[in-house]
Amino acid sequence: MTGRVIPLGRIAGIPIRLDSSWFLIFALVTWTLAAGYLHELSHSLVARHFGTSVQSITLFIFGGVSRLGGGPASATRELLIAAAGPAASLLLAAVFGVLEPAASALAPALALLRYLAYINLMLGLFNLIPGFPLDGGRVFRAIVWGVTHDADRATRVAGTVGRVVGYLFVLFGVWQILGGNFINGLWISFIGWFLENAAMSEMQGQAVLEILTGHKVREAMRPDYTSVPADRTLQQLVDGHVLAHGQRSFLVERDDRVVGLLTLHGITRQPRPSWPTLRAEDVMIPKTEMRTTRRDADLRDVLEHMDRDGVNQLPVIENGHALGMVSREDIIGFLRDHVGSPR
Ligand SMILES: [Zn+2]
Repeated sequence: MTGRVIPLGRIAGIPIRLDSSWFLIFALVTWTLAAGYLHELSHSLVARHFGTSVQSITLFIFGGVSRLGGGPASATRELLIAAAGPAASLLLAAVFGVLEPAASALAPALALLRYLAYINLMLGLFNLIPGFPLDGGRVFRAIVWGVTHDADRATRVAGTVGRVVGYLFVLFGVWQILGGNFINGLWISFIGWFLENAAMSEMQGQAVLEILTGHKVREAMRPDYTSVPADRTLQQLVDGHVLAHGQRSFLVERDDRVVGLLTLHGITRQPRPSWPTLRAEDVMIPKTEMRTTRRDADLRDVLEHMDRDGVNQLPVIENGHALGMVSREDIIGFLRDHVGSPR
């Protein structure tokens, strides 16, 4: 999505984040939170069953959107993962509904059960709307994918349908406003605007991926990079590189071979008095834990990995030797050269 995203923490190792749009109606929707968690966790559980990780869950105004780490490998998997959330919500609604008669003698418990049944029913039904990237849209995309055997085309079709659904919400909201139902209409229009935006950003991301398809890292990488000797102290690095050139990350080399990556963050995490004695190799990310790429890697895969891992650049390394760096900016520059502008 396009809004600012605020990290909330982790549940079962999955980062939970909050889109800033959420605050706009925070008071109205706090109560959907618990239901939203259950809904999204069911996506995660099915995804994990298929060996696909859920990278993060961003809680939006009505539930959440799970980002899968690496696209599911098949249309069937995507369909099952997408359908799991609404299925869980509808199942919970049914369970709370069935329990209602048992609580009929106790008014507060009855009210609570009705409430929970209602929330889960709404969450399940709303997410079944076929507007990509909502679950219903993902189910729709998986069906198109299964029929056409073309995942890219399926995303374009589902994205277009998602935008149409968004516009229909906006129109319906305006119609409500004109009919005097101001608050409801505004609310529905806002949801429509949000859906259209989400579908649009998915389609833009898809367009970028399609342009990159078939191109290699060698076409976008920069051959220049900054390396530092493994035995250089942090103080020397700060004086010589960070302050002088404003650099934020360095490859650490020993005997002309890359042994790790040092980031500005890694340096500033160390207490300042230790800078004159700590060496680059003491605080670097060792080579075994570094994410790297190769000249003949697909640019499309590299960008997807960057998105998944939340990194902005990757060293290009072959046979232990650094050949350069490839960053998001490099890929954007590559796109600009190829199509004028990635938009
Ligand atoms: Zn969902």
